[in-house]
Amino acid sequence: MSSVGEELSTLKDKISKIPNADVISCHPSLVQIKIRQTDHRQVNVCCQFPESYPSRPLLVELKSKTIADRMLEGMVKVFDQELLRISGQPQIVHLVRFVSEFLTNNPFVVCSEELNHVKHKLASEADTLKVKRKTGVILYKATQNSYFIDFRVALPDDYPNQHVRLDIKETNFPPELMTVITGHVMERLRRCVEPPLNKPTDPAFEPRPSLRVAVDYVVTECVRKYPLEKCSICELTALPHDPQSVVKDENHPQYVYRIYCGHLYHRKCIEEYLKKPPFNGGKKCVICGERVAHDKWNISPRLAEQRWAQHQARLREIDEVVDFLS
Ligand SMILES: [Zn+2]
Ligand SMILES: [Zn+2]
Repeated sequence: MSSVGEELSTLKDKISKIPNADVISCHPSLVQIKIRQTDHRQVNVCCQFPESYPSRPLLVELKSKTIADRMLEGMVKVFDQELLRISGQPQIVHLVRFVSEFLTNNPFVVCSEELNHVKHKLASEADTLKVKRKTGVILYKATQNSYFIDFRVALPDDYPNQHVRLDIKETNFPPELMTVITGHVMERLRRCVEPPLNKPTDPAFEPRPSLRVAVDYVVTECVRKYPLEKCSICELTALPHDPQSVVKDENHPQYVYRIYCGHLYHRKCIEEYLKKPPFNGGKKCVICGERVAHDKWNISPRLAEQRWAQHQARLREIDEVVDFLS
């Protein structure tokens, strides 16, 4: 028997012992093996035998609907090197074990384009960014004009079916602003993996990747923006230049409010604005025209939706009582 024939005769048996690997086809012209660790961490390994195999390495091609082409090309280069190293010996089983380990040790393979965006489009020179490749963790301290948010993003095993976990480690933004920012991060993450609250059983809903959504929001919409943002009324920077002088007392005139639309105002400025006529149609944000409501200054969209749902439930309860009594 040729060395190829010998290798193929025991292939199915050997591959069946490797977790999450299955032989799809096993011919001297083409061998295909599927490795499926999660819904997205999966790849088909296609191998062809060159002339004078095994003294020359297998010809490998990777196919995946869930891993980006650029990443697949990079992986092929890594695997080619490994095959070159072991040439002279049977290579398929070794390759499949190697690919399987590679997938386990590189959880970012399923979101390599998102990670590239974070590394090359978001991170500035003042930032520090560490990517823990094997554990799927990003440590990111984003800085703008002496203000910073230091946070950690962890990729779950079943990404992107489950959203990333984002934890704030340290920051010098005002605590109330951070409460709103954190609320918005959570809501954006939830929306990536759960259907809208008003259509909880929508069959068309599919989870979407959340890494870029979360990091983009924290870095671009918060860290880069808020230290430079001006109060729309007095036109001075809403936050003080020195984070140490951030006002923590809510009754202080210079206390900074982030209103529902996301714009910042000093307490004194927004109070004066709200007291001034005209009042018809409700007061609107000077910048974006969205309605300003006292009691909604600090609440997240999710909380607003929850409150609305509670309100509706309460109305239904009252209706039931009225029905019962009448
Ligand atoms: Zn102001
Ligand atoms: Zn606004």
